[in-house]
Amino acid sequence: MITQQRIDALRGAAVPPAKLWIDGQQVAAIKGEERAVTSPIDGSHLGHFAAGSREDVDLAVAAARRVFERGDWSKMPPTQRKRIMHKIADLIEAHADELAVLGSRDNGTEISMSFRAEPGSAAATMRYYAESVDKLYGEVAPTDASTLGMILKEPVGVVGAIIPWNFPLMIGAWKLGPALAVGNSIVVKPPEVASFSLLRLAELCHEAGLPPGVLNVVTGKGSEVGAAIAEHMDVDVLVFTGSGGTGRRLLQASANSNLKRVYLELGGKSPNIIFEDYENLDKAAAVAAAGIFRNSGQVCVAGSRVLVQRSIYQPFLDKFKAASEAIQLGDPLDLATTAGAIASEDQMRSILAKIERAKADGLELVTGGNQARMDSGGTYVEPTVFTHVPEQNALAQEEVFGPVAAVTPFDSEEEAIALANSTVFGLAGAAWTDNLSRAHRVVGAVKTGVMHVNTYGGADVTVPLGGHGQSGNGHDKSLHALDKYCNLKTAWISLS
Ligand code: NAD
Repeated sequence: MITQQRIDALRGAAVPPAKLWIDGQQVAAIKGEERAVTSPIDGSHLGHFAAGSREDVDLAVAAARRVFERGDWSKMPPTQRKRIMHKIADLIEAHADELAVLGSRDNGTEISMSFRAEPGSAAATMRYYAESVDKLYGEVAPTDASTLGMILKEPVGVVGAIIPWNFPLMIGAWKLGPALAVGNSIVVKPPEVASFSLLRLAELCHEAGLPPGVLNVVTGKGSEVGAAIAEHMDVDVLVFTGSGGTGRRLLQASANSNLKRVYLELGGKSPNIIFEDYENLDKAAAVAAAGIFRNSGQVCVAGSRVLVQRSIYQPFLDKFKAASEAIQLGDPLDLATTAGAIASEDQMRSILAKIERAKADGLELVTGGNQARMDSGGTYVEPTVFTHVPEQNALAQEEVFGPVAAVTPFDSEEEAIALANSTVFGLAGAAWTDNLSRAHRVVGAVKTGVMHVNTYGGADVTVPLGGHGQSGNGHDKSLHALDKYCNLKTAWISLS
């Protein structure tokens, strides 16, 4: 674990220069444009990133295609590819302190979480997929004896990856790991408000021996760089994590260009259901509070709707209020902080507007509801709880992507399931119950990609993460993610 002393030593470390990473080196953006970066921690100036353009994307895609066709990585013996991916994991671990602090300064995530979730998960992900490299087999089909039918898995070629600002290193590794494992080249577009850690990752991949051109990082605006990747005629597969609005644009871009496959990991409005038969209400309340307030709610699977059985509603709400008020909102670079800054001024304004709308709708505020730590110069919002939120209120239907919980009572298991399924989303959820049969019933009935039982959040790389409904159409993590980065080929060979 990182120490406070180490964090303080890294607080003012240099950030990566305003350059793109193309074909194994830092290059200036063709148009020479840069954007200033402000730290959400205190509003201080952090540095600049290069604002890339369509021309830069063309260069990056060309480099990725060139190396793919040459086979430096795509045809490298699997044992060698595996060794390089393990080396990438080693280097992420060796630089974990630096990467975690850099990431927190950029997007405001509390360091206790960013250390675990960013370099920690990124290294574990690289290792997991490194181990998959020499364990992927094709298949032989059950044909008659006169034919050999083989089903081969081939790399797709050039992958475009567009990454959001919450956990860019971890989510970036969820795309990079499986894409690299099967031999693809990649062009990554980091988020505008948190570009630095993916640029640093590219350097570490290079140091580990990843051939030039296999990984390219083009920073810049979503509407410019992201759109250019999405519309590119030579990108074979597009993987994305972010908002539903952008996801829709990417599907349109695919339809209007080369029909590239598009995998979307989108937002959620995840239900956390507390049944009266669950005995340990203290634990449920504390974990439910962490489930919505860690990283100040900027977590795609955040348990933003807390559904509570009416017989335990008030005792649970009292405990949930206390647990919410015990969240340590503070300096993201303080190890004691359990909820850090909001990643940008725009995002903070959007969260505060949704809180004001909820107040105007007459919703009852239990705690929070305001901007916080204003004299820090940073962007913070208090952990906020509204109670008795009706199913159809916007606060129960729309993603806030901030520290706002909507608590709603229910009477029966059927009603809890109906409420859980009452949004357009289907990313994650949880049921708290001591009844095993009920746990299985609810896991089966709630339409989400992930269900927790008697816990909230937390999962490792061995299980998939992805959504149903408008939460997306693809899954990161686990061996299943490899399929996104492969083409299936049939070889039908006459033996007669
Ligand atoms: P966003 O959609 O605004 O941005 C995501 C990325 O898309 C950024 O890199 C951005 O620059 C790029 N982008 C923006 N406009 C684009 C365009 N027109 N064309 C191409 N690219 C474009 O989302 P965000 O605000 O960065 O992230 C928050 C959202 O991500 C939330 O909805 C959250 O729930 C979701 N999320 C989902 C998961 C998951 O696994 N399902 C994980 C984390 C975050």
